[in-house]
Amino acid sequence: MSYNQDIKSISCRFKNECGGCDMTDIAYEEELSLKKKYVEGLFKGICKVDSVHGMYRPIYYRNKVHACLGQNEAGQIISGIYAKGSHRIVPVDSCMIEDQECDRIIFFIRDYLNKHKATAYDEDKKKGQYRHILVRKAFSTGDIQVILVLADPVLKGKKALIEALVKEFPAIKSIVVNINNQATSMVLSDTSKTIYGSDVIVDALLKKKFRIGPDTFYQINHDQAEKLYKKAYELADLKKTDVLVDAYCGVGTIGLCAANLVDRVIGVELNPNSVREAKLNAKLNGIKNASFYAADAGDFLLDYVSQSKKMDVLIMDPPRSGSTEKFLDCIVKSGLKRLVYISCDPSTQARDLKYLLKRGYKMASLCYPYDMFPHTNAVETVCLLTKVHE
Ligand code: SAH
Repeated sequence: MSYNQDIKSISCRFKNECGGCDMTDIAYEEELSLKKKYVEGLFKGICKVDSVHGMYRPIYYRNKVHACLGQNEAGQIISGIYAKGSHRIVPVDSCMIEDQECDRIIFFIRDYLNKHKATAYDEDKKKGQYRHILVRKAFSTGDIQVILVLADPVLKGKKALIEALVKEFPAIKSIVVNINNQATSMVLSDTSKTIYGSDVIVDALLKKKFRIGPDTFYQINHDQAEKLYKKAYELADLKKTDVLVDAYCGVGTIGLCAANLVDRVIGVELNPNSVREAKLNAKLNGIKNASFYAADAGDFLLDYVSQSKKMDVLIMDPPRSGSTEKFLDCIVKSGLKRLVYISCDPSTQARDLKYLLKRGYKMASLCYPYDMFPHTNAVETVCLLTKVHE
């Protein structure tokens, strides 16, 4: 893999205050090699680690961009991110990892609000209107959704703001207002209202369509997600007769992208909203051989395995905390032959793999790391386990 030599490293003037990146001012090759060493340390005694699959152009990759709003001493609205460990806003006006158009939209709204004497919400005084701006982009189509998080549902000058925004940025296909007047560090409340266009934008991942709404969990780095999923399918060695279980499935991306390669997809996910979205995504793609269930993955698998239901291959993609012994014990009990484990935290993955290696499984591949978040400490990994023949 070669890298765009124009982007040897990123340098950022906000790096000391902003919590967004960890690795600035080092060459990208060096960053990837540090990530590889990190994973190798965790995987000692488990398996060998491949080179980290990086991005050709490791900048402007975030398809979801968030800015907090506040006012400075001169009363001007500022946009940016909270300084590490505080609620003081660092007025970031350029970012090397966020999509540039999303950033331009945020700056446009900030300037527009200043021109129209709007107010930003003050958390201490509990006064003011605008709290956050969230911008989401479907990289495959360029469609954009803007979410304005407000403390007060009465939005003066709404029509003019919508007109100005859409005129300047025709890619905006959806504008949503979210009302959040709670003392909380959560950006979004449950109360959203679409004030322009559609409720969701639609992105394509490996030629399948996925709905993205204000609070949809969706892969942040579109191109790297496609590469990671492709590797997972290659390792899974999917066959037309297979029943594929997609555990911790979110909105169903992994299972749905593979639905035409297998007989059936069974997805399980704890968050009922994500399960609802997974079902809508199946429908949107005309996929009829996928079913999704809202449950704890361990509970679900215990039921599934107890009833001796067919499971040829399982792809799991748990949260940072990794999986549970309950879930892993079910795998052992089921006698599953092929297990592909995708992880956003290789340290918990290494723990879970060691558990399975003691219980009749072996590593059947290298560990393949993917750089989903260049210039941060994060790295994702995927690997295959198979059952040892008795
Ligand atoms: N595979 C998806 C999402 C992975 S993120 C994708 O690639 O987009 C991990 C997911 O696990 C989240 O959607 C989270 O809600 C879900 N999750 C967390 N704990 C869980 C549990 N105990 N059982 C099932 N799903 C869980």
